[in-house]
Amino acid sequence: MIVVLKPGAKKKEVLKFTVFLEQQGVKVHYSQGASRIVLGLVGDTQGINAEALGAHHLVEKVVRVQEPYKRANRLFHPEDTRIDVPGPDGVIRSIGGVSLGIIAGPCSVENREQILRVAGAVKKAGAGFLRGGAFKPRTSPYSFQGLGCEGLDLLLAAKKETGLPIVTEVMGNHQLEVFEDVDVIQVGTRNMQNFTLLKELGRSRKPILLKRGYACTLTELLMAAEYIMAGGNDRIILCERGIRTFDNFTRNTLDLSAIPALKKQSHLPVIVDPSHATGLAWMVPSMAKAALAAGADGVILEVHNDPENALCDGEQSITPETFTLLMDSLKKYAALEGRSI
Ligand code: PEP
Ligand code: MN
Repeated sequence: MIVVLKPGAKKKEVLKFTVFLEQQGVKVHYSQGASRIVLGLVGDTQGINAEALGAHHLVEKVVRVQEPYKRANRLFHPEDTRIDVPGPDGVIRSIGGVSLGIIAGPCSVENREQILRVAGAVKKAGAGFLRGGAFKPRTSPYSFQGLGCEGLDLLLAAKKETGLPIVTEVMGNHQLEVFEDVDVIQVGTRNMQNFTLLKELGRSRKPILLKRGYACTLTELLMAAEYIMAGGNDRIILCERGIRTFDNFTRNTLDLSAIPALKKQSHLPVIVDPSHATGLAWMVPSMAKAALAAGADGVILEVHNDPENALCDGEQSITPETFTLLMDSLKKYAALEGRSI
């Protein structure tokens, strides 16, 4: 249930009203809009008399929210959410609102030289964030599983050298203790419904990059975000990374319509991963541009200095040269739309 307050409601009165609402067994989520305060009532709202609430002198209107996700719902937070991430260089990079987030780097961290080279190149081209997997979820147990903690250390070295904040995937709760210096924690497609992990991430205050499960609906993605938000962490970036369909020309099918759909339903920023969506490096630039044209708040791209010999996902990795050219187009596009990279 959403309670929109009249403009100019006094803080003291709002506080008193919030206590009154919470006494009825719901949690109140407070959101200060441009001109109005919006209160989101979460929990069992069955017993609340919406008509009586509507008659309260502070209240402008009461709306029952049909969707099962509340905190992630745009009705609870009409403005776009922007996630600010301070880098070790003191610069704050943002995703959402007018800011486009460009995350680039290899699928997995392979060695010091590789990650430092790619990090330097993507920084030079204008990326805002460095990606790289240290713990890799692979379909086969015999495939390269990532360097683990050593990979994280190398990623941190690249962060120090470039000043770029880092984005890397967590696969289970037990790994979180070594993620202290990670700037954005990624939840991969296979873990989108790992509810134990989502609950733990709700206790974290770090931004979470939440990828859509490859066979999950948009409502399921928003419910996964809701799990994290219910724990008190509302710094979530949603990511469309392709879903499984009958066609296998591409690795997955990029659901571009997910972008306007998610942005209509939710205030959370939405980015796109054209690398995992297509599985084909030659398709990545056009799909990255398409993502921005469809309203995405950024992209996450796999970039490798030697794709042919990459230990993971070489076929879908673009080179630093291609990334640099693509960045030029993305910057032009951003400028046309009045957005910043
Ligand atoms: C990744 O980004 O490295 C990754 C494994 O992505 P996804 O979970 O989307 O497959
Ligand atoms: Mn990959």
